[in-house]
Amino acid sequence: MNKCFRFTILFLVTSFQILAVENSESRIDKILSGMTLAQKVGQMTQLNITALVQDRIAQNYGEVTDYELDTTKIIKYVKNWHIGSFLNGRAVSPENWVYVTGTIQSINAEYTNIPIIYGIDHVHGASYLKNGTIFPHNMNVGCSFDTTHAYNAAITTVSETAHLGHNWVFGPVLGIGKAKSWGRFYETFSEDTYLTSQMGAAVVNGLQNESASKPYKVAACAKHYLGYSDPKSGWDRSPAEIPDQMLREFFLPPFKAAIDASAATIMINSGEVNGIPVHASYEILTKMLREELGFEGIAVTDWLDIKALETMHFTAENEKEATFQAIMAGVDMSMVPLDTSYCIYLKELVEEGRIPMSRIDESVRRILKVKEDLGLFEHFMPTTEYISEINSAQNIELALQAARESMVLMKNEKRTLPLEDKKILLTGFTHDKKVSLCGGWTYRFAADSDRWFPEDMLTIKDAFEQEFGSENLIYQGKRSIKKAARKADVIVIATGEDHAYAETGGSIDDLSLDAGQLVLIKEALATQKPVVLILTEGRPRLIPDVYDEVDAVLFAGLPGIYGAQAIAEIISGGVNPSGKMAFTYPRRSGHIISYNHKRSEYSTIRPVSDELKRYNIAKFGDGLSYSKFSYTNLRMDTTVNSGNVSIQVSVNVTNTSDLSGKEAVLWFVSDEVGSITRPVKELVYFDKKNIQPNETVTYHFEMNPERDLSFPNRLGETLLEDGSFLMQVGNLEQRFWLNRD
Ligand code: BGC
Repeated sequence: MNKCFRFTILFLVTSFQILAVENSESRIDKILSGMTLAQKVGQMTQLNITALVQDRIAQNYGEVTDYELDTTKIIKYVKNWHIGSFLNGRAVSPENWVYVTGTIQSINAEYTNIPIIYGIDHVHGASYLKNGTIFPHNMNVGCSFDTTHAYNAAITTVSETAHLGHNWVFGPVLGIGKAKSWGRFYETFSEDTYLTSQMGAAVVNGLQNESASKPYKVAACAKHYLGYSDPKSGWDRSPAEIPDQMLREFFLPPFKAAIDASAATIMINSGEVNGIPVHASYEILTKMLREELGFEGIAVTDWLDIKALETMHFTAENEKEATFQAIMAGVDMSMVPLDTSYCIYLKELVEEGRIPMSRIDESVRRILKVKEDLGLFEHFMPTTEYISEINSAQNIELALQAARESMVLMKNEKRTLPLEDKKILLTGFTHDKKVSLCGGWTYRFAADSDRWFPEDMLTIKDAFEQEFGSENLIYQGKRSIKKAARKADVIVIATGEDHAYAETGGSIDDLSLDAGQLVLIKEALATQKPVVLILTEGRPRLIPDVYDEVDAVLFAGLPGIYGAQAIAEIISGGVNPSGKMAFTYPRRSGHIISYNHKRSEYSTIRPVSDELKRYNIAKFGDGLSYSKFSYTNLRMDTTVNSGNVSIQVSVNVTNTSDLSGKEAVLWFVSDEVGSITRPVKELVYFDKKNIQPNETVTYHFEMNPERDLSFPNRLGETLLEDGSFLMQVGNLEQRFWLNRD
């Protein structure tokens, strides 16, 4: 292509883009200038779908299998209240979804040219779609140490649901997985900030990939901004006390990464941080979010949270004051979600001059911009045309692959696994339960039984039958296994959490595995046969004494609807495990700390490494393979003279076994002396590759001191301090010095 022609094309493309931006801006200006206050308030309002369904459906909502709408209710809300957004759902058929979102949009279009944006919790695949493809939960995806799986889950969600009118997905969850008794631990990717940031950005990229379901698009929603995942007591939505410095160093970066990846919306933390409910925090919602992070999209409240300022946090005397606090703090849209009192109060507050119209316009402009970017003004009607995409062979393969790579082989004494030519006794509280593989947010908020799951979904029992053949299996329920064990070579116990939970319902006051399950494991150990544990659970449940005695442990977590197959394949050796712990698995309930703790955590007891072993059964980054990998030749310059240079770091990893396998290489840095106390080590990069038997693969990491060695102070200023650092990878380490002129 000659230069002149190239220039002309560039000019045309750039002019077209400028024109498109101008067109979009002028369309929004035009709409905004013609809107009444009531219409603007309506755009800032989100109601639950229960407001629109027939009374008998609303009254028995737990049992809903198909929605039936009440059109008079829809007319009331879109015509009289100008509501601009609805949310939520249950796993109904794609046809039923098209009927629901299509009816709402078409009735709405009779009264306004502003389309509805519909929000939904598809948090690990198409959660609220009958037969939707369900991926592992985030906790598992984190353990895969491969962002491809986060991206695949997101893009599959888009391909299965965007055309059904689901334009707004309430994910990714970007809290740091700290509190383990909290019922939402499994929704987080990791206790590590860098891993969470990478996974979260991949989800945003997948959800907002514009070609995944053309012309239908999806807006991602980074949640729950900020500091939600570390409630002091462990109860959901209860207070967090996080020093500003730590908030900035550990909790803020995943949101920054999501915003840098162009996340269109964020959802606000329902709780309070350092004494201020986040929904009323100008500091967090405006100063940090808008001024520091430059976020231009929609900030939506979480469920009922403006009312919560009056009823839960008591910072407001009544709902009107609560509305004032939230809107002036920076909220754009209220997930009210069950009535319209907020609309009345917000309108009054503007009419009384307490909230300036400019503040309202700012939010409405953001909301219209997201609708415009989604192409909703042109394509607001859903279609049944792409229903064949749902649960396609390709999507199943992606979910299965994610499940295979998301499990962690924690222990494997005397090469107990894989099981070949063995008579297996399969037992445990979760071996025949679908719900134990998927957890909450799967087809229902928290499914009360397996009746909501696809009929052809495999339990662990079904998958074992498929993998090993029924002639090699003996099943025993939860009753005494002594007799049945006599005929078996090995006992496999599927154990962990035998029910689904979400949010408040998932908070527990004891992390220990249920007593009955521990009794069963002890009975198995008493038989003297090798014992293998499969842990299906949404958080680490404690198994302190039995852990040392059993022969092998597979952390299966919540691997999704294809999880059982993946478990059976790992146990049989058909799949080589490659997951690593994305969180610390504690041994006991006291002294629970993350891998990136401060050095003084163990100041009174030395040596630190022994203590880590004593208090944890698996550390962040632990995970076995059936292959053996050896790390050699860590190479890097030991003196770094500038903050803004790329330092090439590399290591060789050799597969010394005769089995091909994947190895995730985790690069850690320790800052040996800091003006603010530094974590003992921090993950700065990871990379996963397949290595053939006897092959040596070089893993590279391009370190950038400003990015990888700096940290914020409590004001958010970035500190980069000269001195010594330790690079750690596998069992190798290399000291280096940052020594700027
Ligand atoms: C949860 C959010 C969710 C919302 C809508 C809330 O209770 O905290 O994560 O997106 O409900 O279902």
